[in-house]
Amino acid sequence: MPELAEVEWFRKQWNAGLGAEIVGLSLHARNRIFRGENVRQLRERLVGEKLLTSQARGKRMLFKFSGDNFLFIHLGITGKIHVQPANYRPAKHDHLVLVQRQRALVFTDSRQFGRVRFHHGTDEPDWWKHEAPEISSPDFDQEFVDRFLARHRKALIKAALLMQNGFSGIGNWMADEILWRAKVLPSKRIRKLTTHERAAIFRATKWVVRRSLETLGEDFADPPRNWLIHQKWKRDGICPIHRTPLRHATVAGRTTAWCPKCQK
Ligand SMILES: [Zn+2]
Repeated sequence: MPELAEVEWFRKQWNAGLGAEIVGLSLHARNRIFRGENVRQLRERLVGEKLLTSQARGKRMLFKFSGDNFLFIHLGITGKIHVQPANYRPAKHDHLVLVQRQRALVFTDSRQFGRVRFHHGTDEPDWWKHEAPEISSPDFDQEFVDRFLARHRKALIKAALLMQNGFSGIGNWMADEILWRAKVLPSKRIRKLTTHERAAIFRATKWVVRRSLETLGEDFADPPRNWLIHQKWKRDGICPIHRTPLRHATVAGRTTAWCPKCQK
């Protein structure tokens, strides 16, 4: 599932179409990615408007169009944003295609866990507002993390890292990377974390997010070779530091890897 850095990369794919008018549109109105949306309004309002800006928050994206129109996309598990030539013929899983004179902006989702929403109005839609600050912003600080963890004292730390109202944009692989760097066992209860461990988790979160945005988020390049992610899915994966075999188990409902030597 795309996490914050991948989402950021996908968001930028449509930058090619910034400032250009939508001259045609095709969509699969009955697909579940449009559940609950006024697809007719989307179709009628977007044609003739220009793509102005876009932004990402956690795993979510918002594209702003002229005429007070907003398009929201969540990639779900297999969603992808890409650009094709203007004469592109939509394939089976291309659920939304915005055609411009020079290109087509395409949203593809084979498993359809993604979501597309539409909003027309002068203000950003209510569902775009988010209680959690972006991790890369100064508002995401040690105090915020401590307050958030204090509200979930009985949870496992891995579960807390997956909560989007605290660690916005973090998913399974980033959570494991953060905990490996912070030297904390994924299955550790939050109430048992020391001040030192909470500080290490905060620092590792900031660092993993920053470096992921600089690599994956920039040009979809792999994160640095000494990251856990390169070992995590291998059955014989090893700790990049100790070269000891990683342990694997389901923690907080997700496949989790950790180093028994690094993480306590
Ligand atoms: Zn290790």
